[in-house]
Order: sequence, then C-alpha cells, then structure tokens
Amino acid sequence: MKAIFVKEPKSLEIVDLPEPVVKAGEVLVRVRAAGICGSDMHIYHGTNPLAKYPRVIGHEFAGEVVAVGGGVNSPKIGDHVAVDPVTACGACYPCSIGRPNVCTKLEVFGVHRDGGMAEFVAVPSRNAHIAPKDWPFEKLVMTEPFSIAANTLSRSECTSRDLVLVMGAGPIGLTILMGAKLLGARVAVADILDSRLKVAKDLGAELAINSKNQDLEREMNKWTDGVGVPLVIDAVCIPELFAQLLRIASPAGRVAHLSFSEKPTMISSLEVTKKELAIIGSRLNCNMFPRVIDWFGKGLEPEKLVSHKFSFTEVVAAFRLIEEKPLETCKVLLTF
Ligand SMILES: [Zn+2]
Ligand SMILES: [Zn+2]
Repeated sequence: MKAIFVKEPKSLEIVDLPEPVVKAGEVLVRVRAAGICGSDMHIYHGTNPLAKYPRVIGHEFAGEVVAVGGGVNSPKIGDHVAVDPVTACGACYPCSIGRPNVCTKLEVFGVHRDGGMAEFVAVPSRNAHIAPKDWPFEKLVMTEPFSIAANTLSRSECTSRDLVLVMGAGPIGLTILMGAKLLGARVAVADILDSRLKVAKDLGAELAINSKNQDLEREMNKWTDGVGVPLVIDAVCIPELFAQLLRIASPAGRVAHLSFSEKPTMISSLEVTKKELAIIGSRLNCNMFPRVIDWFGKGLEPEKLVSHKFSFTEVVAAFRLIEEKPLETCKVLLTF
C-alpha cells in the first residue's frame, strides 16, 4: 500500500509499505480522506517536540472498514468511520478518571505511532466511530478538527448563556466558533487578518475584531457592558497575549488555552484570584467523536472550512500550497 512518510524532518515522500495485519480488537480501515493539520506541518519541519521519526503522518482520517479482528462486534465490514487518533493505556491516573487524552502513555496516530495518511490503517475498534453512509468522506474527516473544538467547549463548560471571545480565526478558531454557535452562545472573534475575519463573520460571529487596528479590550468592554467576557478561548497561542486575555475575562470567567508554546509568560495572579478565573488547558479530545458526529447530524456544516482537495499522490503540492499561500487555505484535504 502507499503511505505518506516523513523519514526525517524535511523529507516527505510517498512510499510502499506492507498492508497492516488486523489484530484482535482492531479494524482495518481503507482510508478515503485525510486532513492536513498544522501539527503535520510541524512534524514535517521537525518543530513538533513530541513527534518520533520515521513516521507515517496523519491524525485526521476517515474511511471504510474492510476487515475486523477477533472479538470485534462493531464497527462491521462496510461501515464508514471517522477515526479518533487518541490511544491511551487505560490504567494511569488520568485514564482512571476518564481523561485518556492526557494519558501518561498517550499515543496519537500520526504523531507517536504511524497514522492515517496511508491507504490502509489498523486501529482499535473503539477508535472507529460509525457515521451515516450517505455523508461524504470529506465531511467525516472533519470530525477530528471539530473534536478539538468540542473538547475545548466541554472543558470550559460553554453554554447558551455565554458570550465567548475566540482569539484567532484560523481553522481551530473557526471550528470553536461554529461549535459555540451550535451550543447557542454569542461569539466574537479576533484576528489580525481581515480575510479570516470575513470568514468568521460569514460563519456567524457577532463581532469580528481586527485586533491590530481596534482596541480589543475596549471593544470587549463595550460588548459586555463593562462586565468582561465570561469565556475567552485562545486559539492563537501567542504567549504575550495571555495577560490581556485575563484582563478581558469577566469575574467568574474562564480562559481556555490550546497553545503548545514552551515560552513562559508573565501574568498577574491578582487578576486570577480577584476574579476567581478558571484557566483551562485543552488537548486533543476526550471521547468527543460521538458528540461531533451528533453536531454534524444537527446541521453543523464542516465542509464550509474545506478550502482545497488533492489526491494523496499530490501531497507535496498540497504542503507547498499551505506554506506558500497560508491566507488562501483553510482545511486542505487529501483523498485516497
Ligand atoms: Zn489536527
Ligand atoms: Zn493512561
């Protein structure tokens, strides 16, 4: 079978690998679509501190079940599935309290173990989530990016009562916007690029603020009648902004983070204490695939974020496009 292989940083190629043999408890997925994520770009460039090489990349993938291992009742051969890339030990402290996405022995397909940018992948049956067969694979493959939003909104307990500020209108910020809207929240989005803010507006953002030209704190103050924003979600991940986000948050507010920056940041602990702020990290997803498939069934249209589709044989061109025209690309998919 063909697979997209990063032998070492900066070396991306399509290689022939043996088809995986399905073991007990696993299903064999014939991959039909895979998404290219910022973290795939980081693995390619050698800037993902968690990645190990050589690696078949891809943690956003969906396809059809073509074989099942011993003891597997569901899914069945022929089912269309979105694959949750998170695998966990099931025994450590976070696993024992239902938080497998921060397992001490966490392994993510496409990062710590070979991933879904291949014609076939064997995955644990519990990671393969069934979706209606009449959904295109281009929709199904968006389950993983939206699971990031679902996890953030679940961790930060977003409800219809919330006013939410999403920092960053890249693919992750936009999935959070769409998820929060589906939950009934009112959402403002900030970015420094007008083209992205236009997309956010089209997707239902009540306010789209260019934080380069506008005073974000003043705008948020106006929007909330001086109270501050109950839920601030940082999907832009610039450490210097952290202190500002704490100032923007309302008393009893929550500030959620998706940053992978190692750079320290200065914050005022008084700000946290006097407002009783909750600072929340969100990583990957904690069993959110059923919820996202439910969102898609309720009318959320993930295809709106797909800007380009390539055959997997054109993966080099797809990566080049993302690098050279970041403003023209949102979610770029590979079909298999
Ligand atoms: Zn991703
Ligand atoms: Zn564990």
